[in-house]
Amino acid sequence: MPENSPAIQNFWNQLAQVKRKSIDSRDLVHWNQMKSSSFSSKSAWNACRVHYPKVPWLKAIWLTGNIPRQAFVTWSSVLDCLPISDQIRKRNVLVSAGCCLCDSSMESVNHLFFNCLFSSSIRESSMKMMNLSSRPPSSMGVTTLASWVANNLNYMGLLLFCSSIYNIWRERNRRKFASKARSVNEVTHVVLKDATELLMLNQHSRREADFLVMDRANTVFDVH
Ligand SMILES: [Zn+2]
Repeated sequence: MPENSPAIQNFWNQLAQVKRKSIDSRDLVHWNQMKSSSFSSKSAWNACRVHYPKVPWLKAIWLTGNIPRQAFVTWSSVLDCLPISDQIRKRNVLVSAGCCLCDSSMESVNHLFFNCLFSSSIRESSMKMMNLSSRPPSSMGVTTLASWVANNLNYMGLLLFCSSIYNIWRERNRRKFASKARSVNEVTHVVLKDATELLMLNQHSRREADFLVMDRANTVFDVH
């Protein structure tokens, strides 16, 4: 802002009218965004940012203890920001449009993470393994699913949601770029292992988490 701008001139005029309590009192630095008058970067950020209403899926992604990379991929999927075929083709880049997980439909964020038979099998199996009885309505997209998850599932369910989105995305990329494929059971096992380890990290040992995963996997898949 130029030194001779009206705003600066007005500021100096107002400053000149301020009466000091005492000629002997010292100047103090006062940060009026905090009751304590002390400065914090959080209060500075809150003072200058635009405040929007909280989204209904907030709790499903930004939860305490979640793995940042899993939260980031899930957040990107809800905002439809992942480089999925339908988004890339909108930029006139020719890429394969089909879903590499089921080979029976076009790839979009809603198909990849919700409607695809491969993905829905992973979601169903992992929820069944952890005895989560709530089931999402059959017709919804990823954003609505995230809102439903935030309002209907417990902490383990929230971890499973993020873990499933992340590992489905990884599996999609493995197939596309490394020509390696895993089965529904294998990906489900990784989803469950990630979520269970995270849940038990502060409560039990990793060894106990492994036992729990194997126990649930044996029950559901009859693996011996
Ligand atoms: Zn598919």
